[in-house]
Amino acid sequence: MTQDIEPIFHPHLWGLTDKQARLCDMARNLAVEKFAPRAAGYDRNASFPSENYVDLAKSGLLGICIPETEGGLGADLKSYMLAAAEIGRFCGATALTFNMHVSSCLWTGDLLDQLAFDAELYQSHQQMRRLHYQRILNEGKIYSQPFSEGSAAAAGFKAFGTTALKTENGWVINGKKIFASLSGHADYYGALCTELDSPDAPHSRRNTMYIAIPADAKGVRVEGEWDPLGMRGTVSRTLIFENVEVDRQAQLMPAGIYPQAASRWPHMFMTLTPSYMGIAQACYDFTIAYLRGEIPGVPPVKRRMFPTKQLAVAQMRLMLDQTKSLWFQAISEARPDPCQESLMRAWSAQHTVMENANALAQLAIRTCGGQSMLRSLPLERLYRDSRCGSLMLPWTAELCLDMLGKAALYKPGESDDD
Ligand SMILES: Cc1cc2nc3c(=O)[nH]c(=O)nc-3n(C[C@H](O)[C@H](O)[C@H](O)COP(=O)(O)OP(=O)(O)OC[C@H]3O[C@@H](n4cnc5c(N)ncnc54)[C@H](O)[C@@H]3O)c2cc1C
Repeated sequence: MTQDIEPIFHPHLWGLTDKQARLCDMARNLAVEKFAPRAAGYDRNASFPSENYVDLAKSGLLGICIPETEGGLGADLKSYMLAAAEIGRFCGATALTFNMHVSSCLWTGDLLDQLAFDAELYQSHQQMRRLHYQRILNEGKIYSQPFSEGSAAAAGFKAFGTTALKTENGWVINGKKIFASLSGHADYYGALCTELDSPDAPHSRRNTMYIAIPADAKGVRVEGEWDPLGMRGTVSRTLIFENVEVDRQAQLMPAGIYPQAASRWPHMFMTLTPSYMGIAQACYDFTIAYLRGEIPGVPPVKRRMFPTKQLAVAQMRLMLDQTKSLWFQAISEARPDPCQESLMRAWSAQHTVMENANALAQLAIRTCGGQSMLRSLPLERLYRDSRCGSLMLPWTAELCLDMLGKAALYKPGESDDD
């Protein structure tokens, strides 16, 4: 059954490496067999996909972006994105939360490995990250990525309000993170904070710290309801840190490195897209199967002979091909210090995937018709989940347009004030 499902990106046609093809197969097999049957339940109950994480740990995928030298599967950004899209196809919420977990390894692993920085600092970073990697690989621990605070910080325009006050042995953390996916379910919250030497020191983006706060530490609490439109299994509630004491080992990146990594490795913000690339493919796949009368549990009535359906499917196919091609090209260009042309393509791809996933879901419902949006079928969940992609900071659909327009019209350093 699993073998019948074609990969989103066929290895030969898209020139995937053997390793990329293998990782995609692993992810797709797990998602088809285990995640797809559970997806409706997590969505209905807005509950976290804990069972899926047990499977991810067993398969080794929890360590997909941990370097091979540290015992992980050693996927780089592109390889991870391709594999994660296969998960997004069958459970968007699992793929999105998986991204939050994986980012803690990708950012501290392959992305930092490609940024040459001080040898001594790098050596101490390698030692630090080993502790986190071993927890993931040996104990199945889950990390999350709560950055958003409801201010301009997550968009990269100001310093984080969550603070890490230096102490003799580590830091004291205070602050609040909103939309914290995996809240109450991750073992460690990988939070971005502003490091302070003293309580009244000014906040500066240069002092951004990336710290893994143990979920069971004193002073950590989860607040608020979680009953959203879509991506309900992400359980993205509010996290409060109140005088939480963490030791030096909690550090995920050396002090001051995050702002450098964020500006030199902008493609790292694209890691929110694979969930939605998978959803876009799923909407198309569903529509084809539905019109061919091949959806299990639905009377096998074919609707493919109507010209209106054929035209609609052609329109969907165009949109899917455009989305896949642009996304694949953008993730193939991912590297430190990309040129402006590459960066603009990354914004175009981000905008296209996030908006087209939802546009494809809308077309799918319109084309398949009333019976297709019953809750017993996945299409209405895909429709709701797909709406969330454009809202994700720092590269929301709006901000992508904003950056693209400016970059197209102004050369670096140019302004109209002269
Ligand atoms: C399902 C889901 C899961 C999420 N999980 C996480 C998570 O795990 N970790 C995490 O950190 N966040 C997470 N987020 C949060 C997400 O990344 C955004 O931070 C959040 O959706 C922003 O909320 P808002 O639209 O109310 O923000 P606002 O800050 O009110 O922004 C509203 C809109 O204004 C625009 N905008 C914002 N700032 C500027 C600016 N300076 N200039 C111009 N335009 C601007 C943007 O387009 C934005 O969409 C999640 C969100 C969703 C929907």
